[in-house]
Amino acid sequence: MAVQIDKTPEALALYAAALASGVVFLPLNTAYTADEVEYFVGNAGAALLVGSPARADALRAVAARHGAQFQTLDDRGQGTLAELAAAAPAGFAPVPRGPEDLAAILYTSGTTGRSKGAMLTQQNLLSNAEVLAAEWRFTPDDVLLHALPIFHTHGLFVACNVVMLSGASMIFLPGFKADQVIGLLPRATTMMGVPTFYTRLLDDPRFDRDLVAHMRLFTSGSAPLLAETHVQFEERTGHRILERYGMTETNMNTSNPYEGDRRAGTVGLPLPGVELKITDPITGETLAQGEPGMIEVRGANVFKGYWEMPEKTREELREDGFFITGDIGQIDTDGYVSIVGRQKDLIITGGYNVYPKEIELILDDQPGVLESAVIGVPHPDFGEAVVAVLVPAKDAKIDTVAIAGVLGQSLARFKQPKQIIVLPDLPRNTMGKVQKNLLRQDHARLFA
Ligand code: ATP
Ligand code: MG
Repeated sequence: MAVQIDKTPEALALYAAALASGVVFLPLNTAYTADEVEYFVGNAGAALLVGSPARADALRAVAARHGAQFQTLDDRGQGTLAELAAAAPAGFAPVPRGPEDLAAILYTSGTTGRSKGAMLTQQNLLSNAEVLAAEWRFTPDDVLLHALPIFHTHGLFVACNVVMLSGASMIFLPGFKADQVIGLLPRATTMMGVPTFYTRLLDDPRFDRDLVAHMRLFTSGSAPLLAETHVQFEERTGHRILERYGMTETNMNTSNPYEGDRRAGTVGLPLPGVELKITDPITGETLAQGEPGMIEVRGANVFKGYWEMPEKTREELREDGFFITGDIGQIDTDGYVSIVGRQKDLIITGGYNVYPKEIELILDDQPGVLESAVIGVPHPDFGEAVVAVLVPAKDAKIDTVAIAGVLGQSLARFKQPKQIIVLPDLPRNTMGKVQKNLLRQDHARLFA
């Protein structure tokens, strides 16, 4: 069952019903066009498509072309599906499922290429929810402020599964609006967010210590939380954001501790039941402690493979069960993992490897800089050239000459950006991930 529907309690009930009836659930980004939906419906071989009545004509045609049924559900939980449900008998015995049975096909965000369908089993979802509920101390008394989309692993599995498993409650918002969130925080005990939620809250003077004094936990993930945001958040509220790391294929892999040191700029320690190692991206050998390399993970949380992409599955999922994440990271002496960047964002310039994060960390510290993105673009002599994109802080001016001077002092020549560009903001997707592929496209001809 593919669904492209608004975030409502009924949408969540539909997900729960799919799990209970053994129907494989495939949620789709509400921003996808009918053409995009068509790719997923066709690729997944969906037998039923549920969509918004506002787009019924286009989506019904998509369903028809793939021999699928079409039903509607709107932003108030009404539609042909709701009518069918109302007419059905109330009682229903769950269909027995085993740990290895498929529960969902969730497509990756498509940050580095075409989205891939990750096959997630009942055990993948259940084991991770159990671990997270325990690690983050969820109880029936909790109220989670839920402002994330529910077509992504963060908002659907991390947030909803943990809440449902622990018997907690949610304030289920259609999306993130700082005003609304500030108004409702007094009724919540916990919030899960992407980094942009926290930077937007910090931009609002009403977001202060008193407003969140009663809160128990704020978590962050899906994209890197700037160490600076972590520090500012603590200064403003007294709370330390708990950052964790996961992905569509694996659910969550690491988390900063609930009790104990939550370290800014790290994603914490491997969760119970998750093995994590750092390997040489070329040979696959485990690297010495502290060296940056490919993050590989194994555990009950790791997916079964990519839907209908056996080759991709073989490339990324080792026979011994380790999944090659595509993220470059390192482990410090206390076991804390930090993400250095994605393998696909690695820049190779004149034969040297440059990890953008090293440069971004310095750039983010410069006066007037809100955030930065370092990318590689084609260059006739070097293969790729390092280019820095900077976003100024509110009302600030960026002195690119001074910044180039600082970089000249602190970085080897081959790492120094050949050009520094200032933009009003960075392109981001719905999960707040910076879309470096778009930046690379926009600046592809800089040195042509
Ligand atoms: P695609 O695989 O299609 O290119 P994607 O990897 O962005 O897209 P997701 O599965 O939604 O799709 O995102 C997982 C990725 O998000 C991780 O591999 C990692 O790069 C990033 N990520 C998640 N949490 C964090 C975090 N706390 N810090 C840094 N990066 C994170
Ligand atoms: Mg990915």
